[in-house]
Amino acid sequence: MLIELQSHSTVSDGQLEPAGVVEKAAEAGVTTLALSDHDAVAGVAEAAAAAERLGIELVPAIEVSCVHEFADDLHVCGYWVDLGTIAPACERAQHERVARAGEIVENLQREGFDIHLEDAVEEASGALSIGRPHIARAAGAGEDMGPFFEEYLVPGAKAFVPRRWPTAAQAVELIHGAGGVAVVAHPYWDISEPAKVGELIRALGVDGIEAFYPSHTKEQTAHLLSLCDELNLVPTGSSDYHGPTHKTFSRFGAYDTYGLGEPQLPPPPLP
Ligand code: AMP
Ligand code: MN
Repeated sequence: MLIELQSHSTVSDGQLEPAGVVEKAAEAGVTTLALSDHDAVAGVAEAAAAAERLGIELVPAIEVSCVHEFADDLHVCGYWVDLGTIAPACERAQHERVARAGEIVENLQREGFDIHLEDAVEEASGALSIGRPHIARAAGAGEDMGPFFEEYLVPGAKAFVPRRWPTAAQAVELIHGAGGVAVVAHPYWDISEPAKVGELIRALGVDGIEAFYPSHTKEQTAHLLSLCDELNLVPTGSSDYHGPTHKTFSRFGAYDTYGLGEPQLPPPPLP
């Protein structure tokens, strides 16, 4: 069994088409996969068809980007969401992404970059959700976008523009409203203080925590598992696959369980 509850396709900022992501997952021995494009579900049908062909389980999913007082950039995954019900929220988020990209591009121009919104849109090519990786590439950040992100695109950096909608609470509401299960993604990617991670999760009303994640240390994983135990939440896990040559997230099976447990697939909510 290999559970991978986050992956990204060309519908957002991944490198492969939805079917290509599923093919790579099957090759890597993944048995349960979620395609969780940022603020988009348009790839799910293609992924589901590929998964059926290849004999692996595909969970319909979305990764909603949102804001919270502890983190300007927080992600909540929704599993088992009804695709039609969540579609208007995706559309709104995708529109707001274009507006935000325009503001970030203006900030980069101010920092001396010769970049235009059209360049970022072109980098995004077929993607419904334009994002900071497309902007970074348009600005010439190169293969390893990490240093460019750190200088310009992460919260507090020179060209960063926060999202305005949805809040984390609204993201959870949107997912629940679409009949889905809400799981806070990679909490220690966005927040470093354990006390804040605990406070966030207690307040959010999520159903699960992505405890197993490549960047999580053994201590962080253990903390998240203890929160799952205490609050009766499902521990999930992913390698956050973005494509075969992605600098950070290029393979399945990249998270460490540290012998502390195994990720689980949250069951669909009872109707
Ligand atoms: P956005 O959708 O605009 O919020 O951008 C989110 C994407 O940016 C994530 O999926 C990552 O691929 C990428 N990203 C976020 N933080 C970093 C970082 N520090 N270094 C490189 N890429 C990052
Ligand atoms: Mn994420």
